[in-house]
Amino acid sequence: MAKQMKDMGFETRCVHGAYKAESAQPQNLPIVQSTTYRYYNAHDVAELFDLESPNHMYARLGSPTVDALEQKMALLEGGTAGMAASSGQSANMIAVLNICEAGDHILSATNIYGGTYNLFDVTLRKLGIDVEFFDQDMPLEDIVALKKPNTKVLFGETIANPALSVLDLEKFVKAASAMEVPLIVDNTFPTPALLRPIEWGANIVTHSTTKFADGHGTSIGGCVIEGGNFDWTVKNEDGSLKYPSMAAPDESYHGLNFYESFGDAAFCTRLKAVLVRDLGCTMSPMNAYLTHQGLQTLDVRMERHVKNAQAVAEFLSQHPMVDWIIYPGLKGNKYYDLAQKYLPKGASAVMSFGVKGGREAGEKFLENLELCSIVVHVGDIHTSVLHPASTTHRQLSEEAQIAAGIDPGLIRLSVGLESADDIIADLDQALNKVR
Ligand SMILES: *Cc1c(COP(=O)(O)O)cnc(C)c1O
Repeated sequence: MAKQMKDMGFETRCVHGAYKAESAQPQNLPIVQSTTYRYYNAHDVAELFDLESPNHMYARLGSPTVDALEQKMALLEGGTAGMAASSGQSANMIAVLNICEAGDHILSATNIYGGTYNLFDVTLRKLGIDVEFFDQDMPLEDIVALKKPNTKVLFGETIANPALSVLDLEKFVKAASAMEVPLIVDNTFPTPALLRPIEWGANIVTHSTTKFADGHGTSIGGCVIEGGNFDWTVKNEDGSLKYPSMAAPDESYHGLNFYESFGDAAFCTRLKAVLVRDLGCTMSPMNAYLTHQGLQTLDVRMERHVKNAQAVAEFLSQHPMVDWIIYPGLKGNKYYDLAQKYLPKGASAVMSFGVKGGREAGEKFLENLELCSIVVHVGDIHTSVLHPASTTHRQLSEEAQIAAGIDPGLIRLSVGLESADDIIADLDQALNKVR
Protein backbone atom coordinates (compact mmCIF):
# COMPACT_ATOMS: atom_id res chain seq x y z
CA MET A 1 0.00 0.00 0.00
CA ALA A 2 1.17 3.51 -0.76
CA LYS A 3 2.45 5.61 2.10
CA GLN A 4 -0.15 7.72 3.86
CA MET A 5 0.30 11.48 3.63
CA LYS A 6 1.08 11.74 7.35
CA ASP A 7 4.06 9.44 6.85
CA MET A 8 5.48 11.40 3.92
CA GLY A 9 8.37 13.86 4.31
CA PHE A 10 7.66 17.30 5.71
CA GLU A 11 8.37 18.92 2.33
CA THR A 12 5.84 16.63 0.65
CA ARG A 13 3.21 17.37 3.30
CA CYS A 14 3.74 21.11 2.66
CA VAL A 15 3.05 20.71 -1.05
CA HIS A 16 0.46 17.92 -1.15
CA GLY A 17 -1.03 17.68 2.35
CA ALA A 18 -4.80 17.97 2.84
CA TYR A 19 -5.86 18.67 -0.73
CA LYS A 20 -5.67 16.39 -3.73
CA ALA A 21 -7.40 17.22 -6.99
CA GLU A 22 -9.64 14.55 -8.48
CA SER A 23 -9.34 14.03 -12.22
CA ALA A 24 -10.08 17.25 -14.13
CA GLN A 25 -10.47 19.23 -10.90
CA PRO A 26 -8.42 22.32 -9.98
CA GLN A 27 -4.82 21.63 -9.00
CA ASN A 28 -4.96 24.45 -6.43
CA LEU A 29 -7.22 24.38 -3.39
CA PRO A 30 -10.54 25.95 -4.46
CA ILE A 31 -11.91 28.94 -2.57
CA VAL A 32 -15.45 27.95 -1.67
CA GLN A 33 -17.07 31.33 -1.19
CA SER A 34 -20.58 30.52 0.00
CA THR A 35 -22.16 31.24 3.36
CA THR A 36 -24.51 28.31 3.14
CA TYR A 37 -24.93 24.83 1.66
CA ARG A 38 -28.01 23.37 0.02
CA TYR A 39 -29.75 20.13 1.06
CA TYR A 40 -32.69 18.18 -0.29
CA ASN A 41 -34.01 16.56 2.85
CA ALA A 42 -34.26 17.27 6.57
CA HIS A 43 -32.44 14.09 7.54
CA ASP A 44 -29.15 15.23 5.96
CA VAL A 45 -29.40 18.54 7.82
CA ALA A 46 -30.19 16.78 11.09
CA GLU A 47 -27.00 14.73 10.67
CA LEU A 48 -25.00 17.94 10.44
CA PHE A 49 -26.48 19.23 13.68
CA ASP A 50 -25.70 15.91 15.36
CA LEU A 51 -22.04 16.21 14.20
CA GLU A 52 -22.45 12.94 12.33
CA SER A 53 -21.56 14.27 8.90
CA PRO A 54 -18.33 15.78 7.56
CA ASN A 55 -20.35 18.10 5.30
CA HIS A 56 -21.04 21.80 5.77
CA MET A 57 -24.12 23.88 6.39
CA TYR A 58 -23.12 27.41 7.29
CA ALA A 59 -19.69 28.97 6.84
CA ARG A 60 -19.37 30.23 10.42
CA LEU A 61 -19.04 26.55 11.35
CA GLY A 62 -16.57 25.69 8.60
CA SER A 63 -16.09 25.38 4.87
CA PRO A 64 -14.10 23.08 2.57
CA THR A 65 -11.32 25.65 2.12
CA VAL A 66 -10.92 26.21 5.85
CA ASP A 67 -11.12 22.42 6.47
CA ALA A 68 -8.18 21.88 4.13
CA LEU A 69 -6.06 24.47 5.94
CA GLU A 70 -6.87 22.86 9.30
CA GLN A 71 -5.92 19.42 7.99
CA LYS A 72 -2.70 20.77 6.51
CA MET A 73 -1.67 22.42 9.78
CA ALA A 74 -2.45 19.19 11.65
CA LEU A 75 -0.38 17.19 9.14
CA LEU A 76 2.55 19.60 9.43
CA GLU A 77 2.54 19.68 13.24
CA GLY A 78 2.01 15.91 13.48
CA GLY A 79 -1.29 16.40 15.31
CA THR A 80 -4.55 14.47 15.18
CA ALA A 81 -6.81 17.44 14.30
CA GLY A 82 -6.69 21.17 13.60
CA MET A 83 -9.03 24.10 13.95
CA ALA A 84 -8.59 27.45 12.22
CA ALA A 85 -9.61 30.75 13.78
CA SER A 86 -9.89 34.32 12.56
CA SER A 87 -6.57 35.35 14.16
CA GLY A 88 -3.77 34.18 16.40
CA GLN A 89 -5.48 36.02 19.23
CA SER A 90 -8.71 34.08 18.80
CA ALA A 91 -6.78 30.79 18.46
CA ASN A 92 -5.19 31.28 21.88
CA MET A 93 -8.48 32.51 23.34
CA ILE A 94 -10.56 29.53 22.20
CA ALA A 95 -7.83 27.03 23.09
CA VAL A 96 -8.03 28.21 26.69
CA LEU A 97 -11.81 28.74 26.85
CA ASN A 98 -12.37 25.20 25.53
CA ILE A 99 -11.28 23.81 28.90
CA CYS A 100 -11.37 26.75 31.35
CA GLU A 101 -14.22 28.64 32.95
CA ALA A 102 -14.77 31.13 35.77
CA GLY A 103 -13.06 29.86 38.90
CA ASP A 104 -10.24 28.09 37.04
CA HIS A 105 -6.54 28.93 37.15
CA ILE A 106 -3.95 29.09 34.35
CA LEU A 107 -0.18 29.03 34.64
CA SER A 108 1.58 30.95 31.86
CA ALA A 109 5.18 31.82 31.13
CA THR A 110 5.71 35.58 31.51
CA ASN A 111 7.60 35.88 28.23
CA ILE A 112 4.74 35.71 25.76
CA TYR A 113 3.32 37.93 23.03
CA GLY A 114 1.91 41.20 24.40
CA GLY A 115 -1.51 40.54 22.90
CA THR A 116 -1.71 37.15 24.57
CA TYR A 117 -0.47 38.65 27.85
CA ASN A 118 -3.30 41.20 27.75
CA LEU A 119 -5.84 38.56 26.77
CA PHE A 120 -4.82 36.48 29.80
CA ASP A 121 -4.12 39.26 32.29
CA VAL A 122 -7.09 41.53 31.56
CA THR A 123 -9.81 39.89 29.50
CA LEU A 124 -9.69 36.34 30.90
CA ARG A 125 -9.39 37.76 34.42
CA LYS A 126 -12.61 39.73 33.80
CA LEU A 127 -14.24 36.42 32.86
CA GLY A 128 -13.22 35.01 36.25
CA ILE A 129 -10.22 32.98 35.10
CA ASP A 130 -7.21 33.49 37.36
CA VAL A 131 -3.91 33.72 35.48
CA GLU A 132 -0.51 33.44 37.08
CA PHE A 133 2.64 34.35 35.18
CA PHE A 134 6.01 32.82 36.03
CA ASP A 135 9.61 32.84 34.86
CA GLN A 136 9.95 30.00 32.33
CA ASP A 137 13.57 29.42 33.34
CA MET A 138 12.60 28.34 36.88
CA PRO A 139 13.51 24.75 37.81
CA LEU A 140 10.90 22.06 37.14
CA GLU A 141 10.04 21.57 40.84
CA ASP A 142 9.35 25.30 41.30
CA ILE A 143 6.99 25.34 38.32
CA VAL A 144 5.11 22.26 39.56
CA ALA A 145 4.88 23.88 43.01
CA LEU A 146 2.76 26.69 41.47
CA LYS A 147 -0.06 24.22 40.83
CA LYS A 148 -3.36 24.93 42.58
CA PRO A 149 -6.33 22.54 42.87
CA ASN A 150 -8.08 24.57 40.10
CA THR A 151 -5.10 24.79 37.69
CA LYS A 152 -6.26 23.71 34.23
CA VAL A 153 -3.61 24.80 31.72
CA LEU A 154 0.14 25.31 31.40
CA PHE A 155 1.00 27.81 28.63
CA GLY A 156 4.17 29.06 26.94
CA GLU A 157 5.65 30.18 23.60
CA THR A 158 8.28 28.00 21.92
CA ILE A 159 10.18 31.16 20.92
CA ALA A 160 8.65 34.13 22.70
CA ASN A 161 7.62 37.24 20.77
CA PRO A 162 9.37 39.65 21.34
CA ALA A 163 11.58 38.38 24.21
CA LEU A 164 13.05 35.61 21.98
CA SER A 165 13.42 33.22 24.89
CA VAL A 166 13.40 29.53 23.93
CA LEU A 167 11.06 27.30 25.91
CA ASP A 168 12.57 24.20 27.54
CA LEU A 169 9.89 21.95 26.09
CA GLU A 170 10.96 18.78 27.89
CA LYS A 171 10.78 20.58 31.23
CA PHE A 172 7.36 22.02 30.40
CA VAL A 173 6.05 18.63 29.26
CA LYS A 174 7.23 17.10 32.55
CA ALA A 175 5.68 19.94 34.55
CA ALA A 176 2.32 19.60 32.76
CA SER A 177 2.36 15.86 33.22
CA ALA A 178 3.13 16.19 36.96
CA MET A 179 0.25 18.67 37.28
CA GLU A 180 -2.08 16.53 35.12
CA VAL A 181 -2.92 19.50 32.91
CA PRO A 182 -2.43 19.93 29.15
CA LEU A 183 0.56 21.90 27.89
CA ILE A 184 -0.51 24.50 25.33
CA VAL A 185 2.33 26.06 23.34
CA ASP A 186 2.22 28.87 20.82
CA ASN A 187 4.55 27.76 18.01
CA THR A 188 4.17 30.83 15.78
CA PHE A 189 7.85 31.77 15.47
CA PRO A 190 9.49 28.39 14.73
CA THR A 191 6.58 27.00 12.68
CA PRO A 192 6.46 23.20 12.27
CA ALA A 193 9.29 23.49 9.73
CA LEU A 194 11.74 24.16 12.58
CA LEU A 195 10.04 22.64 15.63
CA ARG A 196 7.13 20.25 16.17
CA PRO A 197 6.19 20.51 19.88
CA ILE A 198 3.80 17.53 19.78
CA GLU A 199 6.78 15.28 18.99
CA TRP A 200 8.26 16.47 22.30
CA GLY A 201 5.00 15.74 24.16
CA ALA A 202 3.09 19.05 24.04
CA ASN A 203 -0.69 18.50 24.00
CA ILE A 204 -2.06 21.52 22.14
CA VAL A 205 -0.22 23.80 19.68
CA THR A 206 -1.46 27.25 18.68
CA HIS A 207 -0.42 29.58 15.88
CA SER A 208 -0.77 33.04 14.57
CA THR A 209 -0.73 31.93 10.93
CA THR A 210 -0.49 35.66 10.14
CA LYS A 211 3.29 35.38 10.49
CA PHE A 212 5.53 32.77 8.83
CA ALA A 213 2.72 30.29 7.99
CA ASP A 214 1.13 32.71 5.54
CA GLY A 215 4.53 34.34 5.18
CA HIS A 216 3.55 36.86 2.52
CA GLY A 217 1.74 39.32 4.75
CA THR A 218 -1.67 38.76 3.17
CA SER A 219 -3.96 37.26 5.84
CA ILE A 220 -4.70 37.49 9.54
CA GLY A 221 -5.36 34.00 10.88
CA GLY A 222 -4.86 31.50 13.65
CA CYS A 223 -4.89 27.78 14.21
CA VAL A 224 -5.12 25.28 17.06
CA ILE A 225 -3.66 21.78 16.62
CA GLU A 226 -4.42 18.90 18.92
CA GLY A 227 -1.86 16.23 19.80
CA GLY A 228 -4.47 13.59 20.65
CA ASN A 229 -2.22 12.72 23.60
CA PHE A 230 -4.10 13.99 26.65
CA ASP A 231 -6.50 11.97 28.79
CA TRP A 232 -9.46 14.31 29.34
CA THR A 233 -10.97 11.98 31.97
CA VAL A 234 -8.45 13.07 34.64
CA LYS A 235 -10.07 13.88 37.98
CA ASN A 236 -9.84 16.65 40.54
CA GLU A 237 -8.69 15.82 44.06
CA ASP A 238 -12.36 15.40 45.10
CA GLY A 239 -12.94 12.79 42.38
CA SER A 240 -14.95 15.05 40.05
CA LEU A 241 -14.00 15.45 36.39
CA LYS A 242 -11.31 18.08 35.85
CA TYR A 243 -12.38 18.79 32.26
CA PRO A 244 -16.17 18.38 32.21
CA SER A 245 -16.43 20.33 28.93
CA MET A 246 -14.48 17.52 27.26
CA ALA A 247 -15.46 14.41 29.20
CA ALA A 248 -18.99 15.03 30.57
CA PRO A 249 -22.27 15.25 28.64
CA ASP A 250 -22.66 18.65 26.88
CA GLU A 251 -25.98 20.42 27.47
CA SER A 252 -25.79 22.32 24.18
CA TYR A 253 -25.44 19.02 22.27
CA HIS A 254 -28.21 17.01 23.93
CA GLY A 255 -25.83 15.18 26.17
CA LEU A 256 -22.97 14.49 23.74
CA ASN A 257 -19.68 13.55 25.42
CA PHE A 258 -16.98 15.00 23.14
CA TYR A 259 -14.11 12.85 24.37
CA GLU A 260 -16.13 9.63 24.22
CA SER A 261 -17.47 10.42 20.74
CA PHE A 262 -14.42 12.00 19.07
CA GLY A 263 -11.40 10.63 20.95
CA ASP A 264 -8.15 12.13 19.73
CA ALA A 265 -10.04 14.83 17.77
CA ALA A 266 -12.31 15.81 20.67
CA PHE A 267 -10.59 19.09 21.50
CA CYS A 268 -10.83 20.49 17.96
CA THR A 269 -14.31 19.09 17.39
CA ARG A 270 -15.54 20.95 20.47
CA LEU A 271 -13.66 24.11 19.44
CA LYS A 272 -15.60 24.15 16.21
CA ALA A 273 -18.95 22.88 17.45
CA VAL A 274 -19.12 25.08 20.55
CA LEU A 275 -16.52 27.87 20.73
CA VAL A 276 -16.45 29.01 17.12
CA ARG A 277 -20.21 28.48 16.86
CA ASP A 278 -20.80 30.72 19.89
CA LEU A 279 -18.01 33.29 19.47
CA GLY A 280 -17.98 33.46 15.67
CA CYS A 281 -14.20 33.79 15.30
CA THR A 282 -14.18 31.90 12.00
CA MET A 283 -11.45 32.14 9.40
CA SER A 284 -12.70 33.23 5.98
CA PRO A 285 -12.28 30.91 2.97
CA MET A 286 -10.15 33.54 1.22
CA ASN A 287 -7.73 33.80 4.15
CA ALA A 288 -7.63 30.01 4.44
CA TYR A 289 -6.76 29.77 0.75
CA LEU A 290 -3.95 32.34 1.01
CA THR A 291 -2.56 30.76 4.17
CA HIS A 292 -2.68 27.31 2.56
CA GLN A 293 -0.87 28.75 -0.46
CA GLY A 294 1.82 30.09 1.87
CA LEU A 295 2.20 26.75 3.67
CA GLN A 296 3.03 25.00 0.40
CA THR A 297 6.42 26.74 0.45
CA LEU A 298 6.87 26.86 4.25
CA ASP A 299 9.81 24.47 4.31
CA VAL A 300 11.91 26.28 1.71
CA ARG A 301 10.99 29.69 3.05
CA MET A 302 12.00 28.83 6.62
CA GLU A 303 15.27 27.37 5.37
CA ARG A 304 16.13 30.70 3.72
CA HIS A 305 14.70 32.79 6.59
CA VAL A 306 17.01 31.14 9.13
CA LYS A 307 20.04 31.17 6.81
CA ASN A 308 19.62 34.91 6.24
CA ALA A 309 18.84 35.55 9.92
CA GLN A 310 21.99 33.78 11.07
CA ALA A 311 24.14 35.81 8.64
CA VAL A 312 22.47 39.10 9.64
CA ALA A 313 22.77 38.32 13.37
CA GLU A 314 26.47 37.51 13.01
CA PHE A 315 27.03 40.74 11.06
CA LEU A 316 25.17 42.87 13.62
CA SER A 317 26.98 41.29 16.54
CA GLN A 318 30.26 42.64 15.08
CA HIS A 319 29.01 46.12 14.14
CA PRO A 320 30.52 49.04 16.13
CA MET A 321 27.15 50.87 16.24
CA VAL A 322 25.34 47.89 17.76
CA ASP A 323 25.25 47.88 21.56
CA TRP A 324 23.75 44.43 22.06
CA ILE A 325 21.85 41.77 20.10
CA ILE A 326 19.40 39.04 21.07
CA TYR A 327 19.11 36.07 18.70
CA PRO A 328 18.99 32.53 20.12
CA GLY A 329 21.07 31.24 17.19
CA LEU A 330 24.10 33.29 18.30
CA LYS A 331 26.78 31.75 20.51
CA GLY A 332 26.73 33.52 23.84
CA ASN A 333 22.95 34.07 23.77
CA LYS A 334 21.26 32.97 26.98
CA TYR A 335 19.13 30.47 25.03
CA TYR A 336 21.80 29.22 22.61
CA ASP A 337 21.96 25.72 24.14
CA LEU A 338 18.17 25.32 24.22
CA ALA A 339 18.02 26.56 20.62
CA GLN A 340 20.64 23.98 19.58
CA LYS A 341 18.56 21.27 21.24
CA TYR A 342 15.06 22.19 20.07
CA LEU A 343 15.81 24.23 16.94
CA PRO A 344 18.76 22.52 15.23
CA LYS A 345 17.58 23.78 11.84
CA GLY A 346 17.59 27.41 13.02
CA ALA A 347 16.08 29.71 15.62
CA SER A 348 13.53 31.40 13.34
CA ALA A 349 14.25 34.81 11.84
CA VAL A 350 13.33 37.43 14.43
CA MET A 351 15.97 39.26 16.48
CA SER A 352 16.30 42.45 18.44
CA PHE A 353 19.30 44.73 18.86
CA GLY A 354 20.21 48.06 20.38
CA VAL A 355 21.56 50.94 18.30
CA LYS A 356 24.18 52.97 20.21
CA GLY A 357 22.82 56.41 21.06
CA GLY A 358 19.33 55.59 22.32
CA ARG A 359 16.01 56.74 20.93
CA GLU A 360 17.31 59.43 18.57
CA ALA A 361 19.84 57.02 17.08
CA GLY A 362 17.15 54.35 16.65
CA GLU A 363 14.90 56.81 14.87
CA LYS A 364 17.71 58.00 12.59
CA PHE A 365 18.69 54.41 11.76
CA LEU A 366 15.12 53.68 10.73
CA GLU A 367 14.83 56.76 8.52
CA ASN A 368 17.93 55.77 6.59
CA LEU A 369 16.81 52.25 5.70
CA GLU A 370 16.10 51.81 2.01
CA LEU A 371 15.45 48.10 1.46
CA CYS A 372 14.11 47.04 4.88
CA SER A 373 10.47 47.96 5.55
CA ILE A 374 9.19 49.77 8.62
CA VAL A 375 6.13 47.72 9.53
CA VAL A 376 4.35 46.43 12.64
CA HIS A 377 4.78 42.84 11.48
CA VAL A 378 7.14 39.89 11.56
CA GLY A 379 7.48 36.63 9.65
CA ASP A 380 7.20 38.10 6.19
CA ILE A 381 9.20 37.58 3.00
CA HIS A 382 10.12 41.31 3.27
CA THR A 383 12.73 42.17 5.89
CA SER A 384 10.72 44.08 8.50
CA VAL A 385 11.94 46.56 11.08
CA LEU A 386 10.31 48.30 14.01
CA HIS A 387 11.64 50.86 16.51
CA PRO A 388 9.22 50.59 19.44
CA ALA A 389 10.53 53.71 21.27
CA SER A 390 9.53 56.03 18.43
CA THR A 391 6.44 54.10 17.24
CA THR A 392 4.43 51.53 19.25
CA HIS A 393 5.67 52.84 22.64
CA ARG A 394 6.15 56.53 21.73
CA GLN A 395 3.53 57.77 24.22
CA LEU A 396 5.63 56.49 27.11
CA SER A 397 8.38 58.53 28.76
CA GLU A 398 11.91 57.17 28.44
CA GLU A 399 11.73 55.95 32.06
CA ALA A 400 8.42 54.19 31.39
CA GLN A 401 9.82 52.62 28.22
CA ILE A 402 12.79 51.21 30.10
CA ALA A 403 10.46 49.92 32.84
CA ALA A 404 8.45 48.12 30.12
CA GLY A 405 11.63 46.46 28.86
CA ILE A 406 11.91 48.72 25.81
CA ASP A 407 15.47 49.98 25.50
CA PRO A 408 15.20 53.36 23.70
CA GLY A 409 17.60 52.11 21.02
CA LEU A 410 15.87 48.72 20.59
CA ILE A 411 15.19 47.63 17.02
CA ARG A 412 13.10 44.54 16.28
CA LEU A 413 14.14 42.92 13.04
CA SER A 414 12.41 40.12 11.14
CA VAL A 415 14.75 38.91 8.41
CA GLY A 416 13.14 38.26 5.03
CA LEU A 417 14.00 36.36 1.89
CA GLU A 418 16.01 38.99 0.02
CA SER A 419 19.70 38.37 -0.65
CA ALA A 420 21.49 38.34 2.73
CA ASP A 421 24.18 40.59 1.24
CA ASP A 422 21.60 43.22 0.31
CA ILE A 423 19.92 43.11 3.73
CA ILE A 424 23.31 43.46 5.43
CA ALA A 425 24.38 46.31 3.13
CA ASP A 426 21.17 48.22 3.90
CA LEU A 427 21.51 47.74 7.67
CA ASP A 428 25.19 48.70 7.46
CA GLN A 429 24.68 51.98 5.57
CA ALA A 430 21.80 53.00 7.88
CA LEU A 431 23.82 52.19 11.00
CA ASN A 432 26.82 54.13 9.69
CA LYS A 433 24.68 57.23 9.16
CA VAL A 434 23.82 57.26 12.87
CA ARG A 435 27.44 57.83 13.92
C1 LIG B 1 1.20 37.81 16.38
C2 LIG B 1 1.15 36.80 17.43
C3 LIG B 1 -0.07 36.43 18.05
C4 LIG B 1 -1.36 37.11 17.67
O1 LIG B 1 -1.71 36.77 16.38
P1 LIG B 1 -2.67 37.64 15.43
O2 LIG B 1 -2.76 36.81 14.22
O3 LIG B 1 -2.00 38.97 15.24
O4 LIG B 1 -3.97 37.79 16.15
C5 LIG B 1 -0.05 35.44 18.99
N1 LIG B 1 1.09 34.83 19.37
C6 LIG B 1 2.29 35.16 18.81
C7 LIG B 1 3.52 34.45 19.25
C8 LIG B 1 2.35 36.14 17.83
O5 LIG B 1 3.54 36.47 17.29
